[in-house]
Amino acid sequence: MRLNKNDITQRIEKISKQVEEISELKTQLSPMRVELLNRIRFAECLDGNFLKRFFLSYAIWGFYTHKDSIQNFNLFEFPKNYGGNEEDLNCVIGHEIMHNAQHSNFPDFILDLNHYGSWITDCKYFKSYLRLFEGDAEFISKSLKSEYYPNSKYAPSKMIKLFLPKTDEEVENVYEEGYKIIKREFGNDRKKINSLYNLRNKEILEIFGD
Ligand SMILES: [Zn+2]
Repeated sequence: MRLNKNDITQRIEKISKQVEEISELKTQLSPMRVELLNRIRFAECLDGNFLKRFFLSYAIWGFYTHKDSIQNFNLFEFPKNYGGNEEDLNCVIGHEIMHNAQHSNFPDFILDLNHYGSWITDCKYFKSYLRLFEGDAEFISKSLKSEYYPNSKYAPSKMIKLFLPKTDEEVENVYEEGYKIIKREFGNDRKKINSLYNLRNKEILEIFGD
């Protein structure tokens, strides 16, 4: 499905209300920018050798970057050609909007996440932080699917299917593992889930570590 910038912007505005309702967190979208990228541009943003990055780019549905001292707008990026149907796209947009809510409400958590992400030697904290960060965004995406978008379907082309098994499993797992931990430990209790973002280091490791 070919994406269109204005359409995506309207979807973000609509879905952000649904994300706020499910997450019990406020979003802070503006100032916002939407960009549509070629797969090759996605690959450029990733780590690893070209082949790995190229394969990995096929497992990515969207990107969110929060505004900071260098980039003075919130940036949503999606591939120009999307591999799922409209309802699936809405769930993915919801995932990215949740990252906006996390940045807006828990800046200290994000500081830690970025700090540990820049460590090369010991990433056990990073993985735990990432499981909460991505796992909770998955929680939102899956809740959107069950509450609003039951016909959501990702239907990658044959070529994409060929590439998918080769993508970095470590990265994929953080999403699913984080989601499973949140569901198992906290069910749908958003008060408890949102309070996790105020925990630090060892406490997060205790819940989300290996
Ligand atoms: Zn994410």
